[in-house]
Amino acid sequence: MLAPAAALLLALAAGAAPPAFVAVIDPGHGGVQEGAISPRGVRESDLALEIARRVAARLRKMGAKVILTRTGDIAVPMANRAAIANAIRADLFVSIHLNSMPTVEARRVTTGVETYFLSADATDTHASAVAARENADRLAGDPEPDPNDPVGAILSSLEDAASLEGSSRLAYAVHDRLVSSTGALDRGVKQAPFYVLAGARMPAVLVEVGFISNEGEAERLRAKDYQEKVAAALADGIAVFRKETRAARR
Ligand SMILES: [Zn+2]
Repeated sequence: MLAPAAALLLALAAGAAPPAFVAVIDPGHGGVQEGAISPRGVRESDLALEIARRVAARLRKMGAKVILTRTGDIAVPMANRAAIANAIRADLFVSIHLNSMPTVEARRVTTGVETYFLSADATDTHASAVAARENADRLAGDPEPDPNDPVGAILSSLEDAASLEGSSRLAYAVHDRLVSSTGALDRGVKQAPFYVLAGARMPAVLVEVGFISNEGEAERLRAKDYQEKVAAALADGIAVFRKETRAARR
């Protein structure tokens, strides 16, 4: 699991030129955890991986070191995903997902892009439902949240105000690019208690790149051209975030 991280540390120790930045891209779900399913049977786990691979390729062209939390159709415990990013001291963590609505009517009419960063309280009831759905596939072996203090890990993570501010900036940077370049409906940047983001000690966001539960949007998201458009927008948003971060440090 941590082999890519170890390889990176060894390469740096051996005097290799440091990358422009280190990004961890997290394709949601995988293996038995398929995520949401489209009306035609397309799995969220597959589309998330295809899009994540395209994002990684584009970031590498920008000189970034990129680690994917999975490169195949395998289950990765939710707690390990941010742990990988922490272990290699990544500059940022982006989790890629596809959204879903619960009812036939809502599935028919709901499309668009939502980008999330962490908070103990959800922005609204929809954000709360999205977090509940994405949190559902915590695997056996993931640490159980204390039932008396279910948001304890999230609150301790939120004490890191600098990375929360960074997460907010990263969320707006990728979201704005994604909306403007795909023309998808802008459903906003929101906050909710996502376990996958809770452990990350760097700017971390979760992007719902579209609704797989909507037949039209799911078919669009299957198309390679559209996946490239989404990937380019995410990579460009990350580049904008990096540029702002460097400017702020000067
Ligand atoms: Zn998901």
